[in-house]
Amino acid sequence: MQLGAMQVDAISDGTFTVRPEYFGAEGDARREFFARDGFGWLPIGCFLIRTGERTILVDAGMGPDQDELAHGMVLVGGQLFVGLGALGIGAEDITDVVITHFHTDHVGWLFDLAAEPVFPNAIIWYGAADWDYFVNGPGDIRPHIRDGFLAQASRQHPLTHDATVTPGVTAVLTPGHTPGHLCVSLESGPDRLLLLGDAITCPIQLVEPTWHSYGDVDPTTAEQTRQRLRAELETTPGVGAHFPALSAGQLLLPDQWLPRTGK
Ligand SMILES: [Zn+2]
Repeated sequence: MQLGAMQVDAISDGTFTVRPEYFGAEGDARREFFARDGFGWLPIGCFLIRTGERTILVDAGMGPDQDELAHGMVLVGGQLFVGLGALGIGAEDITDVVITHFHTDHVGWLFDLAAEPVFPNAIIWYGAADWDYFVNGPGDIRPHIRDGFLAQASRQHPLTHDATVTPGVTAVLTPGHTPGHLCVSLESGPDRLLLLGDAITCPIQLVEPTWHSYGDVDPTTAEQTRQRLRAELETTPGVGAHFPALSAGQLLLPDQWLPRTGK
């Protein structure tokens, strides 16, 4: 997608198979979404933003790794560099990595198994409250990722307030799914796009208001954040890290999701 002077590319690192239990869905609601033996197949999304001056990766995928959740749900990563390579981008080209939150499927490519940075020239941006919850607290995190965060602290930019990464790219704190979750607001001329991370996992949540997310650390705050973003999506297109096909869309009233194709 071309957003004014910015080029925005969606890259999937892999696959996330999701069941109705992820959303707390009741009965047979939206059965068509779980059409493959009761699973919906979602991407593990990352977004590359090129402004001319900076090359920014939003989220670092699952990495060459996999994870099993309850109810047989599975995350399998490993494809990010296939997508980056297709765009002519190598690890050393990335100037910034903005992490929406510290769940395993968003930090996987930050550090290798020796806890060394995969993106050698990048500054890493994230919500400071996620460091407290995942690196120092009870949150689940791979040991080499924790060690990388601890060893490479001077190359990181923990945020306690909304912050400008570079003009037109703003990290906006949106807590609830995790304590330090952030979204990325892109703006270039009249064009805007919201990168929602996992604050909204799937657009169906916008039309099924009782659907929460399995991984919400603070469900009440997560729901307040979803409502706030839902209102923004009435005027601004957005895309989450697990939206089908990683395609952006906009909420039309009443309760209708309109996918937008890139221009
Ligand atoms: Zn996720």
